[in-house]
Amino acid sequence: MIRRSTLLMLWPALALASEGKWTPQQVQQQGAAWVKQQGFAVPLKKLWDPVKNEGLLANAVQLPGCSGSFVSAEGLLITNHHCAVGLLQEHSTTSANLVRDGFLARSRDDEKASKSFRVQVPRRFRDVTAEVLAAVPEGVDDRGRYKAVEAVQKQLVAACEKAPKTRCTFATFDGGVAFTLTEFAELTDVRLVWAPPTSVGDFGGEVDNWMWPRHTGDFALLRVYQDGKPYVPSVWFPVSTEGLKPGDAVAVLGYPGQSFRSTLADEIAEREQRWYPRVAALTQEWETILEEEGRRSPEVTVAVADDLRGVLNTRKNAQGQLAGLARGHTVERQRAMELRVKAATKDPAALEAFEVLTRLTQDRLATWEHDFALDWSTRGARALSWPLAVVRRAVEAQKPDAEREPGWQERDLARLKERLERDQKRYAPAVDQRLLISWVKLALALPREQRLTAVDQTFPSPAQADLEKIAALLQTSKVFDPAARRAMLDETPEQLKARKDPLIDFALALDQERRTLRDAREATQGRSLAFKPRWRRAVMAEAKGLVAPDANSTLRVTFGVVKGYSPKDGVDYRPQTTLTGLVAKHTGAEPFDLPARVRDAAARKGPRWRDRRLDDVPVDFLSDCDTTGGNSGSPTIDAQGRLVGVNFDRVWENVANDFGYDPQVARNVNADARYLLWLLDEVEGPNAKPLLKELGVGPQ
Ligand code: ASP
Repeated sequence: MIRRSTLLMLWPALALASEGKWTPQQVQQQGAAWVKQQGFAVPLKKLWDPVKNEGLLANAVQLPGCSGSFVSAEGLLITNHHCAVGLLQEHSTTSANLVRDGFLARSRDDEKASKSFRVQVPRRFRDVTAEVLAAVPEGVDDRGRYKAVEAVQKQLVAACEKAPKTRCTFATFDGGVAFTLTEFAELTDVRLVWAPPTSVGDFGGEVDNWMWPRHTGDFALLRVYQDGKPYVPSVWFPVSTEGLKPGDAVAVLGYPGQSFRSTLADEIAEREQRWYPRVAALTQEWETILEEEGRRSPEVTVAVADDLRGVLNTRKNAQGQLAGLARGHTVERQRAMELRVKAATKDPAALEAFEVLTRLTQDRLATWEHDFALDWSTRGARALSWPLAVVRRAVEAQKPDAEREPGWQERDLARLKERLERDQKRYAPAVDQRLLISWVKLALALPREQRLTAVDQTFPSPAQADLEKIAALLQTSKVFDPAARRAMLDETPEQLKARKDPLIDFALALDQERRTLRDAREATQGRSLAFKPRWRRAVMAEAKGLVAPDANSTLRVTFGVVKGYSPKDGVDYRPQTTLTGLVAKHTGAEPFDLPARVRDAAARKGPRWRDRRLDDVPVDFLSDCDTTGGNSGSPTIDAQGRLVGVNFDRVWENVANDFGYDPQVARNVNADARYLLWLLDEVEGPNAKPLLKELGVGPQ
């Protein structure tokens, strides 16, 4: 633990070597000398050419919730095992369980196509700030401002998507300082080539999740096709066979989802005092339900496996955030930064903006419990999320496409249908009933002035008898029947009402309340759009240099070095783990149950992939790159632009980096490319030779 005074000096870090999820444009602005300072030998232009929109950075591709990169000229793509679990599940049957056992295609014909997996390859980045600001009328009210930005967003996206097989995404930076549009080639023919068994790809499971030391082989190889032929990417990373050592420069490229470093100290306090404790408690309850029901039936265990993983991950993340926020004194540090900016700024508009933003944060507390319950209504029981989706679709479909809420336009329909289909495999009635009861209980416990009418009318008294009514609702509803649910997606709200389906009726009423909340939030966000940029400009001026914006699912690069850390007094973690450590962790029981062929291969001690310094095959490594959720599957490259690993996690002490970068503990976890090569070469053996050749690795 470092002393407080030191922490205050480090905050907010201006160009601390490794802090910052930089946009490609910012890398350009920083210049060639800066890139060199990060230890990178690749010329700036090769990294990113803003005129051609090309370069190594453009080889970070976006996957559903994850990132990935091409590693051959024939469309071979690498990502994490946990990013490809859905694809593995698509092809798993009781006799061939690909999730459990892994898969290796023996030939191109043997590769397994996905019905829904999509890869987005960036083609063009545009700064659309001028268009967006010009579309906001003078003197408009807060909600009008929000709506004006939303309308121009939809216009820009629609115009961009006129090009065939194109997906475009709009993003807001620093609360409205800048806006961008990214144009992606959307590739929908994606096939599974190789994945290790879960006992390798998720070795250590939930016990090791967010932890170090780590020994997970979180890899998967997919192949992307276009017009029936392997896709030829404009750039791809050669896989390094040399590897790395502590102190070596690396960069992680990808699509980090969300971070909150530009939020006010008051907002961080709200997360610490309310949000994360509530999330931890609710997910704890859901975990108990999923585990108890899973113990009753093997079918349920299989069905809920992925949901359980998600729930456990969210809970551990919430606990990690709480521990990190407390340890890092994040709220106090953010407050100290705010005081510094207020003292330094000469702009009265910035000071006014700070007051307005503070008030917005305080106002939100008045309905906090009510809003939390509505926000979590779609995250647990399918008995709620399915009818709510059907109802939303019906309501939005009444409007012309351009006027619909983003996420509910025609361009989103295929994804919605796929999600509802995919979800069917994860539905277990006994679990779902208890999850619904858990949410209704949460809603029934709301304070008097924050009630949800839909809940109060359906369940007039919080007695057990009412909760039992839920079982009856579930019995009579048709939303669990996939064909009926598909039909509902084409119906109007009137047709849905005429069904007299109790869960649909409940969802229709609840949807009204969700819409009221959304309208209120649109006004708040519209107000924030007017004031937040003024405050952020003052923060940036005080930082006296480029400040990397918060993550927003756009392409970023973060530079760092291979580096260990000290989690507590007297303990130093080294940054690399090895096969010997992996085998030592094997107990024979999940999640430390290595397949015999992996243990046998390790015992052979083949010399090829051994690192001379470690005298062993490296498995995972740490670096101080600045990553978050969404960076899973991100390529980790070395100074020459070669793939040296795949990012898959952060360490426990670094979960709260979403709120601030602490160089002492900011470590991301990567699976080492040499472990991948070892698995293919020594474990898969002759069947993987063509794959190794494609990766540029010939026979020894
Ligand atoms: N495990 C995360 C992901 O799935 C990565 C992280 O949170 O660091 O994107």
